Amino acid sequence: MSSREAMLQKDFVVREGGSFLFDRAGEHRIFTPEDLTDEQRHIRNAARQFADRSVLPRIDAIEGKEPGLMRALLEEAGELGLLMLDIPEKYGGLEQDKTTTMLVTETLTRCASFAVSLGAHVGIGSLPLVYFGTVAQKERYLPRLATGEWIAAYALTEPGSGSDALAAKTRAELADDGTHYVLNGSKQWITNAGFADLFVVFAQVAGEHFTAFLVERDTPGFEVGPEEHKHGIKGSSTCPLVLTDVAVPAANVLGEVGKGHRIAFNILNVGRARLGTGSIGAAKYALRLAAGYAAERAQFGRTLDQFGLIRAKLGDMAVRIFAGDALGYRTAGLIDKKYAALEALSPGPDDDDFQNAVEEFTIEASILKVYGSEALDTASDEALQIHGGYGYMAEYAIERVCRDARINRIFEGTNEINRLLLAGTLLKRGMKQRVPLMKAMQAVGKALAGGAAPALDPAGDRLVPEQEQVHRMKCAALYATQQAVSRWMLQIEDQQEVLGALADVLIDVYGADSALARTLQLPADGPAAAFAADATTLFIEGARDRVFTRVKQVLCAALSGDKRDRAFAELALLDHWRPIDVFAVRERVAAAVVAAGGWPL
Ligand SMILES: Cc1cc2nc3c(=O)[nH]c(=O)nc-3n(C[C@H](O)[C@H](O)[C@H](O)COP(=O)(O)OP(=O)(O)OC[C@H]3O[C@@H](n4cnc5c(N)ncnc54)[C@H](O)[C@@H]3O)c2cc1C
Repeated sequence: MSSREAMLQKDFVVREGGSFLFDRAGEHRIFTPEDLTDEQRHIRNAARQFADRSVLPRIDAIEGKEPGLMRALLEEAGELGLLMLDIPEKYGGLEQDKTTTMLVTETLTRCASFAVSLGAHVGIGSLPLVYFGTVAQKERYLPRLATGEWIAAYALTEPGSGSDALAAKTRAELADDGTHYVLNGSKQWITNAGFADLFVVFAQVAGEHFTAFLVERDTPGFEVGPEEHKHGIKGSSTCPLVLTDVAVPAANVLGEVGKGHRIAFNILNVGRARLGTGSIGAAKYALRLAAGYAAERAQFGRTLDQFGLIRAKLGDMAVRIFAGDALGYRTAGLIDKKYAALEALSPGPDDDDFQNAVEEFTIEASILKVYGSEALDTASDEALQIHGGYGYMAEYAIERVCRDARINRIFEGTNEINRLLLAGTLLKRGMKQRVPLMKAMQAVGKALAGGAAPALDPAGDRLVPEQEQVHRMKCAALYATQQAVSRWMLQIEDQQEVLGALADVLIDVYGADSALARTLQLPADGPAAAFAADATTLFIEGARDRVFTRVKQVLCAALSGDKRDRAFAELALLDHWRPIDVFAVRERVAAAVVAAGGWPL
C-alpha cells in the first residue's frame, strides 16, 4: 500500500485550517504519534540508528567543519534512503508523506548541524522541484538529489531583505534571443552553499516579477563566498552568494515567471512544520541529557533527580513536549491527508494540490514553528541549568544543544513574523467567511452579555474539567478577538502587539486542544493514559493562565471606562481557576521521566 493510500485509510478527520478554534475539543479524531504505521516507525528507527552510529560520534569533527565530512554524511544518509522520502517513485524516490519526513527530522535534530543540512537539502532545496518543476527539470535533477549525488540549497535571503523576502533586489533579465536569463545580485546565509550543486535562486525578472530559478553551481559568474562563523549549528555550511552576469537557461525557470512567491511561501510553510517537529525532537534529546545527568550527579548526598526543583524542571519539559508532539503530528496528519485526498483526484505531484493542502494549514504550521522552537529553547535552557556549571562546558552535549536551539526562532520566518501571519490569517479567513469566526464571536458575545458562559456538551466522560477549561479558553479567545476587531476594524493590521497577543492565545488553544484530543483518544486503561492525562491537565492549566492574561491585556488595550469594566465582568464568567495540586501532578510526570531516563512515551 502506498503512503498516500495508508494516509487516506486513517480514520482521523481533516477539518478546515483554523477549525480547532470552533470545534469542540475531542469532537473529531486527530492524527497522533500513536497512529504511526509500522513502516513509518521503521524509517524513524533507521534514522535514529544512523544518527547514533554515524553522526553523533563525529559531532566534534562536524562542528569543526572537517572538509568533506558533511557531504559524506549526507551521501551516507542518501544510501539509507533518507534523502528520497519526498521524491516521487518515478524520479528515484520513496514518495512518502510529510509525516514520515518529519519523523526523520525529529530524530536527527539531536545533531542539529546535520539535521539543518539534511533538512535544507530535502526540504527547501528539493521540494520546489518536486512540486513546481517541469518533467524535464525533474528528470534531470531529482534522481541525483534523491541519492545525495547532488546537494540542493535555497537562496531567498539577501543583505537587504530577510523577513521582507519579496523585496529581494537580485535581478534577472531575459536575453534578447529569449534562450536565457542573466542574473545579477547577491544572497546571504544560504545553508549548504559551501558544497551544494543546485541552488533555487529567487530574483526579480525585469526588476519586478519575483521568480525562482534553478542555478547549477558551476555556472560562470556564480560565486560562493566564505563560510560564516555562527553562534550555533556550527557544522552546517552557511555562505553568501554573488551572482555576476550568471546566464541561466530559460528552461531553468521554476514554476512561472512572476509566481516565485507561491514557491517561496508554500515551501516555507512545509519547512515551518518540519522545524516545529524537529525542535520537539531536540527537546526530547535535551530532556534525555538532563534526566541522565540528574541521575548521575550527586550533591548533598543525593542525586539531583531526587530534588523537587530539579524534578519540577523535568516535569515541565515533559509537559511541553507532550503538547508539542500532539499539535505537531496533528498538523502533519492534516497536511498529509488533505494532500492525499486532493492527489487521489488527480494523481501525481501537482503544484495546485500541494499549494492547496499546505496553504489550508498556514495557521497550524506557523503555530507549530513558534511553539516547537520556543519549547525547545525553554527545554534546552532548563536542561543546561540542571547540568549546572558542567552544562556551560563545551565537553557536555547540552552546551551545543543550547547554542543550536537558538536559530529555530529566526529562520523559516522569524517567530514575530509567524505570530503576525497566524493571527492575521485567522482574521482574514474570518472576514471572508472561510471560517465561522464572525458567527462564533457573536455567539460568545451574546451568551456572555446574557450573563452565562456558552455551554459545553462534553465529548465523553473523561477529563471533563479539562474539556471545560479548553472550551472556556476558546470562548475567551473569540471574545478578545471580537473586542479587538470592533475597536480597530481593518486597522487591526497595524496593532502588532494585539495581533501578537491573539497569536499567543491561539498557540495555547491549539496546544491545549491537541493535548486533550490526543489523551482522549488513548485507551483509558493503556500504559500511557495516566501520564498523558497528567501532562494534559498541567498543560491546560498553564495555558489557561497565559490565555486569560493575554486576553485581559487585549481588553485593556481595546476598551476603557465602563466598557472595559463590563467586558471584564463578562470575561469573569469564563475565567475559572481550578484548585489543583499542580506540584503533585507534576511530580507524577517527573517520576515517569526519571524512571525512563528521558521521554517516557
Ligand atoms: C544560520 C542561518 C541559516 C539560514 N539559511 C537560509 C537559507 O538556506 N536560505 C535563505 O534564503 N535564507 C536563510 N537564512 C535567512 C533567514 O531566513 C533570515 O535570517 C530570516 O528570514 C530573518 O531575516 P533577517 O535575518 O534579515 O531579519 P530581519 O527581517 O531584519 O528581522 C530582524 C528582526 O525584526 C523583526 N521583524 C522584521 N520584520 C518585522 C515586522 N514586519 N514586524 C515585526 N517584526 C519584524 C524580526 O522578527 C526580527 O526579530 C538563514 C539564516 C541563518 C541565520
